[in-house]
Amino acid sequence: MTCRQLTDDLLDFVAEELAAERRGLVQLHLDGCPACVALVYSYRVVAEVARRLPPPEPPPALLTRLAELARPSPSPEWGQRGAES
Ligand SMILES: [Zn+2]
Repeated sequence: MTCRQLTDDLLDFVAEELAAERRGLVQLHLDGCPACVALVYSYRVVAEVARRLPPPEPPPALLTRLAELARPSPSPEWGQRGAES
């Protein structure tokens, strides 16, 4: 496995979603490549920080739009489209 191939699997590796076979290959590469070990470390730090952040609040404009969509449609044409053709 090369460094290039490893970066393709790195996100899944850090997220622990990589298949056991690929995981073994990644681990094997990491045993002999300090540069990629540093990369895994930085990915882990980013993943850890992201986990600690609260989920983003939806913007008020989006909530307004969703409330509008949830309201019954003012147009009586909705639901009758199939009858026209
Ligand atoms: Zn490497």
